[in-house]
Amino acid sequence: RDVQLMKLNELPAETKDGKLIRLKANIEIPEEVDAAIGHGADGIGLYRSEFLFIRPGGLPDEEEQFLAYKHVIQAMGNKPVTIRTLDLGGDKLKHNMKEFSSGEKNPILGWRAIRFCLAHPEIFRTQLRALLRASAFGNLRIMFPLISGLGELEQSLQILGDVRQELRSKGHSVADHIPAGIMIEVPSAAMISDILAKRSHFFSIGTNDLIQYTVAVDRGNENIAYLYDPMHPGVLRFLKMVIENAHKAGIVAGMCGEMAGDPLYTMVLLGLGLDEFSMSSFGIPQVKQIIRSTSIVEAEEFVGRLMEMDDCNDIEHLLRTTMEEKF
Ligand code: PEP
Ligand code: MG
Repeated sequence: RDVQLMKLNELPAETKDGKLIRLKANIEIPEEVDAAIGHGADGIGLYRSEFLFIRPGGLPDEEEQFLAYKHVIQAMGNKPVTIRTLDLGGDKLKHNMKEFSSGEKNPILGWRAIRFCLAHPEIFRTQLRALLRASAFGNLRIMFPLISGLGELEQSLQILGDVRQELRSKGHSVADHIPAGIMIEVPSAAMISDILAKRSHFFSIGTNDLIQYTVAVDRGNENIAYLYDPMHPGVLRFLKMVIENAHKAGIVAGMCGEMAGDPLYTMVLLGLGLDEFSMSSFGIPQVKQIIRSTSIVEAEEFVGRLMEMDDCNDIEHLLRTTMEEKF
């Protein structure tokens, strides 16, 4: 198996009709880069930086963050490393921010991610300083989570620009070009993805949250988990729209939610035009195998059929039977 894996690692994730797909890894701690490299990842598509903040004794300072980011960026050589700025709050690592907690009644719709960062500019700027300093060591891309409208994106880019100037004026070296992109994981962002695409270098669709907010199902609530359906026609239409809007603006459409790593959906996502899949490293070989044995033409035709169906159960049935037959 190891020999097979090593062979596959050297082969590109290219469809039968020649579209080259990027398969990247999701990581939560810097040490996971080894698994990413070991499974042939084309880069890091999502580094969930908030996991650095789980440790006793308060928030990590700039130096500690800088070392963690630099480690990942250096280990990946010239491959791109997408680091997502802090996604604290909501249901995420809530225990880490008790001092900031406002006793929200509805934290999933609350003060998390970019909202929290924009409200705490010192925390945000410290992270951005650490990121920009680390950018000198490789190929960094910065990604903002939970963007819901243009204002948040513009504010974030403004702060990023300020921090860059400040570092430069102090003589720090910072990479010349650092792509800045956004997660598309809020329905309003999906709806205005044509507008957001003009101000982003890339999109990464966060299906974990996008599905949760689209069907109004708390992603951790077992009672209603049956409604959490990646194949809901409402979700499919969003995915199609976001990918098309990215392409119209000439930017890459990626995905880093769990859906990207589930081989059941690989062909659907290919057919919708997704360019980059980011997932747990261990999932990469299997998804790569499916990509290498599918053509975009057949995937598009398949998605076209799924999208003409009205009923979630019919869609699910056709998807499962087709994938079982083919793979
Ligand atoms: C997502 O929402 O799909 C995502 C990748 O981010 P997270 O799971 O960290 O919220
Ligand atoms: Mg998310």
